[in-house]
Amino acid sequence: MPKLNGSCLCGAVSFEVVNAFDTMFLCSCDQCRQITGSAFASNLFIAADGFNWLSGADEVATYQLPARDISKSFCRVCGSGVPWASGDGMKMIVPAGSLRGEPEVVKKYRIFISEQPSWSSCLDQVEACEGLPP
Ligand SMILES: [Zn+2]
Ligand SMILES: [Zn+2]
Repeated sequence: MPKLNGSCLCGAVSFEVVNAFDTMFLCSCDQCRQITGSAFASNLFIAADGFNWLSGADEVATYQLPARDISKSFCRVCGSGVPWASGDGMKMIVPAGSLRGEPEVVKKYRIFISEQPSWSSCLDQVEACEGLPP
């Protein structure tokens, strides 16, 4: 089966994953916005046996929100979000922005849009530029 590669920004942490994801959650909940520092988290789910670290697994740190099923793993060197294992170890959760190439996803969901702030809910009304604004 075809694979995709992914890495953190500095390149210390890299991985490969089978390009056949079950689901993608674009989550706008308060916790995902805080933990990513962005409008929403973009997480892909795949069976754990389709995932392999290629380098830097010992550079990965994980934060687990107490009493909630919310985690984030990140490279200790550059802070980029990198994949982590689900609580039961059956799935890997892969931040979409860490991948090179286009993920193949069976089903995509935007979730917790009720918690989305106005600045991130009408992105088609924000002026779009190819690079920096003129
Ligand atoms: Zn890094
Ligand atoms: Zn969330």
